Amino acid sequence: MFKKISYIFGFIVFIIFAFLIFKNANLNSFIESIENRTFDLRQGILINEGAKKASDDIVIVAIDDASYEYILDNYGEWPLPRDTYAKIINYLEKQNPRAIAFDLMFVKSIKSKNQADEALIDTFKRYNNIFTSMNFDNQSSDLRTPPYLPEKLTLNIENNSKIDFKDLTFSNCRTILQGILEATSNIGIINVSRSDDGVLRKMPLVVKYNDKFYPQLALRVGLNYLGETSNSFTIDKTSHFKIGDKSIFLDNDGSAILNWYGPAGTYTYIPMYKLIKKINGQSTDLNYDFSNKIIYFGTTASSLFDIKTVPTGKIYPGVEVQTTYVNNLIDNNFIHKVNKSYTIALSILLALLIASVVTRVDSAFTASMTSLSSYFIYLLIAYYAMKYENLWLEIIYPLIFSIFAFTCAYIIKYLVKSRDFEQQYKLATTDGLTGLFNHRYFQEQIRMQIEHCKRYNEAFSLIIIDIDFFKKFNDNFGHQSGDAVLRQVAQTLKQNVRATDIVCRYGGEEMSIILPNTDSNVAYSTAQKICTRVAEKNFKLSNNKETNVTISLGVSTFPFDGDNVTAIIESADKRLYNAKNNGRNQVGNE
Ligand code: GH3
Ligand code: MG
Ligand code: MG
Repeated sequence: MFKKISYIFGFIVFIIFAFLIFKNANLNSFIESIENRTFDLRQGILINEGAKKASDDIVIVAIDDASYEYILDNYGEWPLPRDTYAKIINYLEKQNPRAIAFDLMFVKSIKSKNQADEALIDTFKRYNNIFTSMNFDNQSSDLRTPPYLPEKLTLNIENNSKIDFKDLTFSNCRTILQGILEATSNIGIINVSRSDDGVLRKMPLVVKYNDKFYPQLALRVGLNYLGETSNSFTIDKTSHFKIGDKSIFLDNDGSAILNWYGPAGTYTYIPMYKLIKKINGQSTDLNYDFSNKIIYFGTTASSLFDIKTVPTGKIYPGVEVQTTYVNNLIDNNFIHKVNKSYTIALSILLALLIASVVTRVDSAFTASMTSLSSYFIYLLIAYYAMKYENLWLEIIYPLIFSIFAFTCAYIIKYLVKSRDFEQQYKLATTDGLTGLFNHRYFQEQIRMQIEHCKRYNEAFSLIIIDIDFFKKFNDNFGHQSGDAVLRQVAQTLKQNVRATDIVCRYGGEEMSIILPNTDSNVAYSTAQKICTRVAEKNFKLSNNKETNVTISLGVSTFPFDGDNVTAIIESADKRLYNAKNNGRNQVGNE
């Protein structure tokens, strides 16, 4: 019973604990930050293993440090004049690339030269496979009038999930060349979404601006690659953005969690200066075939600051974040983070498993090893789930739950055991009929009293009690009544001695009392008192009638009547015999 209650109590404490953790926002975000680090670790291991290979269809034209130097030396300015971009596009288009995407914004600037801008805008009019970007921020409209954004830049999204896109609302848009906005619908946003620790693990699918959805640049490029022509999409109940048979899982904030392919430099890089040299007719070793490739332009130069910290590295070019997104879309392997309620359910299951092992297994070593192995197996499952199923199974909640369950189970197990021990000890030292201490306990205690009194020079006394004519009593009233009387005599004895006195059933209808720190006078008068009380008492029989019984008593005191167990008992026994001989119902004399 106690055991059951303890376990139920433990389980309730556990559930309350789980609930508190789950509901506490600060604790949650703390746990989340550690969980994020484990995600990075898993991604790092998978990358080292070479578990995923980046697509060969994607190539990056890198505005690297060398290209930046080259542009400054040859053009005397940054950014590169817009008509040079136009020349590059015209050159590349001859090779029939699948798409040309600019992870850079052609913003309106004081350096803008109308003619050069027009040349670039013209390429957007001419080719329908060129993509460029814009982004949203919260700049005051006093300072910057938001540009006019044509309807064609938006996506229609039917959102059947619980995702609330409100968090990604911005109040303004960076002004890119209006001519480009008008010439093409191949424009996507390049806003990012960082975790609290500044690491970029996910990217917004869309940004909601004035109640309309603007897609991520990589999403635009990906949709084009997949041959998707529709502008209308749904996000299903399980937070998946559907594109034909492919889908993008979206986290609570509407961001896609990226699945990384490697450290910086995973994709084929062509330094931009080589392209410029080529179109300018200067010598270069560039003979790369761009046909059918997705060509992504972006900065990889650390001096140009478009550098992010991602799970696989501190210095990761922004453009590779974009290509990773497109690659995830092509491979349909965006990370799917397992729903928090499933995580909690899994954690509870694991905790229950560990708790039941701990409570069932006797060896602490086996219990610890089994618990550790259970968690370790869970870790392996989490690892392979990410490797093969792109699933992010959280591992920190299960760890906390496991440790807590392990500790709880051990505490409860200890409590139950100590309680069991107490019960067994009690059982081993009590007499079942009278509830007094039994003979074994009596022997143990009298030995201890002698030791104690010898050591401290103290006295103790012993009273031995025998019920008078009890055989006859049994014969007259039956054994049942005899037992009832034995119990009542035992009670009477207990009621008339100190709490520190030890009342035992010596055997049969004989009882004994050890009176620690008690001299013979006090012991004698106590015996006398008990004798009188018993004689006065009406004892209830099993048939509810009442009768009287008497007892005879013998008293002895250590050290005067003997200095060992046998002598002390014999002395009390002898006086009890005297009492019997002298007519019973009395305390025996010498
Ligand atoms: P005396 O006055 O000389 O002690 O006479 P007595 O009949 O009590 O003699 P004795 O002490 O030798 O007898 C013990 C009797 O107590 C024997 C037995 O019938 C009875 N007895 C012992 N243990 C129990 C018990 O657990 N229950 C009951 N009902 N009777 C018991
Ligand atoms: Mg007897
Ligand atoms: Mg007797």
